[in-house]
Order: sequence, then structure tokens, then C-alpha cells
Amino acid sequence: MGQRSGADAYDVVVVGGSFAGLQAALTLGRACRRVLVLDDGAPRNATAVAVNNFLGQRRPRPADLLGTAREALAEYAVDLVSARALALEPSGRRWRAHCSDGSVHVARRLLLATGLAEELPPIPGLAALWGTLAVACPHCHGWEVRGEPVAQVGFRGSLDRSAQRAILVSRWSARTTLFTQGDAVDGARREQLHRAGVLVDDRPVERLERGEAGVDIVTADGARLPQRSVFIATRQRQQSALARSVGCSFSGDGPEYGAVMTDEAGRTDVAGVWAAGTMANPALLAVAAAGHAATVAVALHADLLAEDLASAPSASSPAQTSV
Ligand SMILES: Cc1cc2nc3c(=O)[nH]c(=O)nc-3n(C[C@H](O)[C@H](O)[C@H](O)COP(=O)(O)OP(=O)(O)OC[C@H]3O[C@@H](n4cnc5c(N)ncnc54)[C@H](O)[C@@H]3O)c2cc1C
Repeated sequence: MGQRSGADAYDVVVVGGSFAGLQAALTLGRACRRVLVLDDGAPRNATAVAVNNFLGQRRPRPADLLGTAREALAEYAVDLVSARALALEPSGRRWRAHCSDGSVHVARRLLLATGLAEELPPIPGLAALWGTLAVACPHCHGWEVRGEPVAQVGFRGSLDRSAQRAILVSRWSARTTLFTQGDAVDGARREQLHRAGVLVDDRPVERLERGEAGVDIVTADGARLPQRSVFIATRQRQQSALARSVGCSFSGDGPEYGAVMTDEAGRTDVAGVWAAGTMANPALLAVAAAGHAATVAVALHADLLAEDLASAPSASSPAQTSV
């Protein structure tokens, strides 16, 4: 794809083509907008066995669901480019996106939908199980293991989050164990865990291994404790530094861990730059990331329309005068 410039610019360049970015492209494409989606193929749930809790879908693989979403864009003026956006720069009232394949694209607006990346704690064996037997969210993956023995494995600095999460997980399985990894749970939290029926195991976890029941937790004293799956209260950080590089403001823990701040419509505080999906609303399920992006895209279309009208010839201009 070559460079588009001037009047030939896209209406919107969407950076990030996963649940949020593709839904925004669909909504904008259906509003007769010319859209480019840049994506480098790393959705946050790439290793997940399925996308659960998504209306109308029965456990599709993430790649399959996103592939169908991409195919469905073919009838609109939406271009898809597999490349990483490396830099974004303002150019008058427009923006230029410089990409890893050397291409440069010009747009009236940027919509960032670059998502979050998971930070896995250094528990040996975890990375190989991530998305299949080790997951974060019981709303996404609790139903499949309901009633089975499951564990919430804590790690340094996460204990209170992990304890809260174990209490949540206990709604799916009364056979939930919290592994504290030796960190002390305070009295009030321990009482809540007790009331929720969560067992507390203070032995350090040496490693996680694929096992007959699903995953075995091997503790430092050599015990092997079979679980159907393990839950980890991971932290997420922004997957891309682009929002920071163009000067967007962040809430919470700042550019790396916080959310990009927007108004209700999805407009950041940088002119012409919008944001949608989990980068702006971190707690969202995939379907909610898509829903958020659709809402933002509707507002973005209205913003473009206002600009279209402002720059259109007025009724009194000579070109419009009829005989
Ligand atoms: C293991 C796991 C399992 C999950 N399971 C479920 C589930 O079952 N159900 C559910 O609802 N949710 C699930 N989630 C959450 C789900 O992944 C997110 O809600 C969803 O991916 C958010 O979509 P998004 O579009 O905001 O961001 P992402 O999916 O993270 O997409 C961001 C996209 O932007 C691209 N990108 C980033 N930077 C650039 C750049 N500079 N240039 C070009 N492209 C870029 C990335 O490649 C990626 O494709 C799971 C998460 C994990 C970690």
C-alpha cells in the first residue's frame, strides 16, 4: 500500500485490528468512511483456547473469530495492512502513520485500539500454559471448569489481588485453593476467604506442569497437586507506546499501566486522536471492547461529518448559485 496524502487521505487510520479496531472499522466502513486498519497480529488473547462470553459465538478460537471479522470488511472501503505502526506525526490538520513495512499513511483522524499486553509473573511453567490451562479471568474461562478443583496462584506483590480473585473464582468452583506463596494474608481477608470456602495453601509453588487433570502444581516440598486449571491475577500494560508518544494523558498508574484518558465519545486530549477498546477501558471483555469501539466509531463519524459540513461550500457561495 502506498502513501495517500492530501484529499486522498483516509478518513480514519485505525491502529490495532483486533476486537476493538475491527469493530470500529466495520462501523466506520458502514458509514461510508474510507478506513485503513494497521495491525501487527498480536491480540492479547492470542494463545487462548477460545473466546468465551461473546454473544452469538460458541467458543471460537481468537484467530478464527478475528479472521471472520476481517473477511466481513471486504465489502466496505476498508483497507487492512499487516504492519506495525512505528510512529504517528501530525501534519497540518491530518496525521501520518509510519509503518514497519515502510509505508506511510495519511488520515483525517487516528483511532488507537492497540490494546494491552499481559505481564506474566515468573512462575516456572506458566508461560507454556498461558491461555489454555492458566488464565486470568473467571468470567472468560470459569464456566468450563465449574465445580472442578482450581487454584488461584499468587505471586510477589499480588497477594491481595489474588485473594480477591480467589473469592471471585469460588463462585464457579467450591473447590478453589489460593496459593499465597508464603505471603501473609491479613485477618480480615483470611476471614473472607474462609467464608467463601477458599482453601489457603502457604507452600511456595515451584512450578506448573501439564498433568492428567489439567495442570499440576508442584510445591517446594515436592507435593504434586492436580488442578483442572489455574488462575493468575496478571497485570496488564499498554501494548504500544504510540499513545504516549503523541502526548495522550493517562489515568491510574501512568502511560505504561494506566488507561488512555478520553472523553465519553472516545476523544483523547490530543486533537484528531481517538482511542477505543481495552487501552482506554482496561477491564473490558472482548465483546465489550468491540461494543466500546462501535460507540466510539459512531461519535468519530459524527465528528468527521461536522468537519465535512464546515468545509463544504455554503449556499451563498458562487459555485452553488443556480440560475
Ligand atoms: C489468556 C486470555 C484469554 C482471554 N479470554 C477471553 C475470553 O474468553 N473472552 C473475552 O471476552 N475476553 C477474553 N480475554 C480478554 C480479551 O483478550 C480482550 O478483552 C480483547 O483482546 C481486547 O481487545 P482490544 O481490541 O482492546 O485489544 P487487543 O485484542 O489486545 O488488540 C490490540 C491489537 O493492536 C495491535 N497493535 C498494538 N500495537 C500496534 C501497533 N503499533 N501497530 C499495529 N498494531 C498494533 C495488536 O497486534 C493487537 O492485534 C482474554 C485475555 C487473555 C489474556
